[in-house]
Amino acid sequence: ITNKIAALPPDAFYFSLEFFPPKTSMGFANLRDRLDRMARALRPLFVNVTWGAGGSTAQKSLELAEICQRELGLTTCLHLTCTNMSRALIDKALEDAKALGIRNILALRGDPPRPTEYSENGDGESAGGDEVEFTYAVDLVRYIRKQYGDYFCIGVAAYPEGHAGESHPLGQSLDHDLPHLVEKVQSGADFIMTQLFFNLAAYEHFEQVLLEHPSGAFQNVPLIPGLMPIQNYQMIKRTTNLSHARIPAALMERLDAVKKDDEQVKSVGVDIVSELVEQIKIIKGRTRADKAKGFHFYTLNLEKAVSFVVERTNLIPPGTPEEEDAIVLEEVAVAD
Ligand code: FAD
Repeated sequence: ITNKIAALPPDAFYFSLEFFPPKTSMGFANLRDRLDRMARALRPLFVNVTWGAGGSTAQKSLELAEICQRELGLTTCLHLTCTNMSRALIDKALEDAKALGIRNILALRGDPPRPTEYSENGDGESAGGDEVEFTYAVDLVRYIRKQYGDYFCIGVAAYPEGHAGESHPLGQSLDHDLPHLVEKVQSGADFIMTQLFFNLAAYEHFEQVLLEHPSGAFQNVPLIPGLMPIQNYQMIKRTTNLSHARIPAALMERLDAVKKDDEQVKSVGVDIVSELVEQIKIIKGRTRADKAKGFHFYTLNLEKAVSFVVERTNLIPPGTPEEEDAIVLEEVAVAD
């Protein structure tokens, strides 16, 4: 991923799309078609495949990563969590990823699995078990570097509004996270992807803090802001609660005004996320003028809202004439 980013001209924009593995084979077939359509029409620089906490989706995540990397030829970033994972499971995941030709891992700590979220353990093995030796994401970054040298390009997570997974003395606080983010980068992380956010001021502050950090650790590390297209009112409420991302009052008012009409919520949502993209472009123009500027979209496996956003904000890179002919965005528009 970082090689691809470095090869882009400084005025280029790029983006990635995140997908999670469906539970059923029918879900896989549908998502495969959708991914194929989206890849051809939108041309993301890379795609992300999520990993269920504790390895709960191991097999399905690898299956989806295989579809992305091998069948569709997309540069794929496999997420991998390390808490509540035995070393044997981590070794297997990394070996399997390598065998599929995957060169990018998003190294995460993960949260303990919620009992109702995933019932399947992909490998049929105990998710936790013996030899658990990973406490934080940095442990996984170090482990991957130790075992695989430079084979994998490694990304890590960051939180513009502070990580809120558990209470620590300072509460949800950037000050608490920052030394650990420095540690992740100094241990070998190549790029950073952020938690979703709607609070532009928080992101701007975060970007500034990283750039001015006395360690200099972040100067050449791509920082990719994470955005979530708004699908419907309940979902965005739920997601922002879970991720502890705040929706500024002015944006909430715009959503509140149309909350009973799903189509209008989607349309206002596309406006809001497109505005964020344009504002982030301005911030990045100041802070990273000499580098290509990226965006990450949490798609929730849906196609329509993110397609409108990347089209409206001119994030779709030019394709070959044949690719251009193949774009039929009307198809995309009716798909969700
Ligand atoms: P860490 O970097 O380990 O940080 C976790 C907390 O511990 C932070 O509060 C940090 O400040 C603190 N900390 C770190 N190191 C130390 C230390 N040495 N001493 C004391 N405190 C420390 N979850 C999934 O289960 N599957 C996914 O696919 C997934 N994808 C994600 C993608 C992105 C882009 C993001 C932002 C998050 C994703 N998550 C995913 C969620 C993530 O697993 C959780 O937010 C998790 O709680 C923290 O993971 P982390 O890698 O940021 O952890």
